[in-house]
Amino acid sequence: MELGGTKVIAAIGTGPGRGILARERFPTGDDPSRTLASVVEWLRAQSAAMGIMRAIGVASFGPLDLDPSSSTHGFITTTPKRGWARTDLLAPFRRAFPGLPIALDTDVNGAALGEGRWGAGQGLDDFVYITVGTGIGGGAIVRGKPVHGLVHPEMGHIPMPRAAGDDFAGACAIHGRCWEGLCAGPAIAARAGRPAEELAADDPAWDAVTESMGHALATLTLVLSPRRIIIGGSVRKAGQLGEDAFFERCRSHLKRTLASYVDSPALRDEGLRSFVVPPVLGDDAGLCGAMAMAQNS
Ligand code: ZN
Repeated sequence: MELGGTKVIAAIGTGPGRGILARERFPTGDDPSRTLASVVEWLRAQSAAMGIMRAIGVASFGPLDLDPSSSTHGFITTTPKRGWARTDLLAPFRRAFPGLPIALDTDVNGAALGEGRWGAGQGLDDFVYITVGTGIGGGAIVRGKPVHGLVHPEMGHIPMPRAAGDDFAGACAIHGRCWEGLCAGPAIAARAGRPAEELAADDPAWDAVTESMGHALATLTLVLSPRRIIIGGSVRKAGQLGEDAFFERCRSHLKRTLASYVDSPALRDEGLRSFVVPPVLGDDAGLCGAMAMAQNS
């Protein structure tokens, strides 16, 4: 199950493509008990029909309490999403499917695990998956495992330098000019006065956005030393600019920001093309990641 801010996608299966045997979409809404009850009911019907269900994986928006020793483990904690703060995500599934292993992680850690098993992170022990859409989030895989640490990473809210002459105040309700406040879909729309998908290829907003992307990608490269950075989410499709041009600009701004300080073939021209890449699983990365989590549990 992938729990997003606007929709919840549930599926039964073993992996991407034809591995997805059944899937259903539910509006996230503002009444979690109702939404989760609908998902449980669907899963029950599907598993009864198919006679198989070995484990459940839940990749969810957050923030989440992922500390197994905490009394609120498995809860969404402080989300601004109406109705969902302090929601116990796992209880309805535990009640409906007693004894079945249940794995929970952030949507982006899930997507990272999905790309790691079947997509752009295959064969790599250290890489980062970020999503740039309505918000920005990132999951880091280090030595084959997602980083959790104190809570879990919140890469979308790293502070950003101000480019010369840029007086845009940023769109994050908490920080203004954090990465999400500069590069998420609503931030681009606030800067340009129109949604990203309607912007012309030569709109100056793309320069500002891809320059900020380059700064953030440099930060991730410097801190985590990943072997690859996968960028998912809707913004990468970049309207009339197009996905290829968006990635090219992000790569060249990353290179400029690093200024050759990190020495690796992966950060030179040809290598950069496979260092910063789109997801192979496309919009199914999170859903497949939840399946990978279930299989790992
Ligand atoms: Zn922020």
